[in-house]
Amino acid sequence: MKIDFNKYSDGLVPAIIQDAKTKNILMLGFMNHESYIKTIETKKVTFFSRSKNRLWTKGEESGNILNLIDIKVDCDQDTLLVLVDPVGPTCHKGTDTCWAEDNTPSFGFLSQLETVIQNRKNNMKNEKSYVASLFRKGINKIAQKVGEEAVEVVIEAKDDNEELFLNESADLLFHYLILLQAKGYSLSDVVKTLESRV
Ligand code: AMP
Ligand code: ZN
Ligand code: ZN
Ligand code: ZN
Repeated sequence: MKIDFNKYSDGLVPAIIQDAKTKNILMLGFMNHESYIKTIETKKVTFFSRSKNRLWTKGEESGNILNLIDIKVDCDQDTLLVLVDPVGPTCHKGTDTCWAEDNTPSFGFLSQLETVIQNRKNNMKNEKSYVASLFRKGINKIAQKVGEEAVEVVIEAKDDNEELFLNESADLLFHYLILLQAKGYSLSDVVKTLESRV
């Protein structure tokens, strides 16, 4: 892989550290050629620390190392994207990422949708909102809705109308997310349970 370590006078390139699994951005560090080679050889992310003025293997004191999964170089070879499997919190302040209090796993659009649903739960009196009206009716009614949508998915699964099947699937997922929120859970709780079974 060609990396332009000489682009900047200090011989360093920025290395964006991303969790290979959750895709969260964990931290930013700098690598020179030597730290890059060490990272590849040891499979533990090693930076050149500008403040320490030496090679710095992340986690060397804390034990919170970053196991290397993959390195990608950007379009003009001057920035690295380093995919890792982190051991423990990456930020020295104890949080999983250097930008957030918690490592909230992101499920992309589904997480966005969860936030909207959560807002409706917090503003249950909103007369115009269908989701708020469901929260007002309570858990039993929401659970019943999930059951109905599940049955509709089952019915459409027997046919081969793709559009209807996808629409009912979307309805089921949507109402299921509402049920999770109504019970005080989120998608990440369910994913954690699934992951614990692997
Ligand atoms: P560690 O490499 O995790 O053993 O941490 C050693 C030292 O590096 C800490 O005391 C901090 O000064 C610094 N450090 C660790 N992690 C980070 C980080 N994510 N961002 C900035 N500085 C860090
Ligand atoms: Zn670039
Ligand atoms: Zn930090
Ligand atoms: Zn439906």
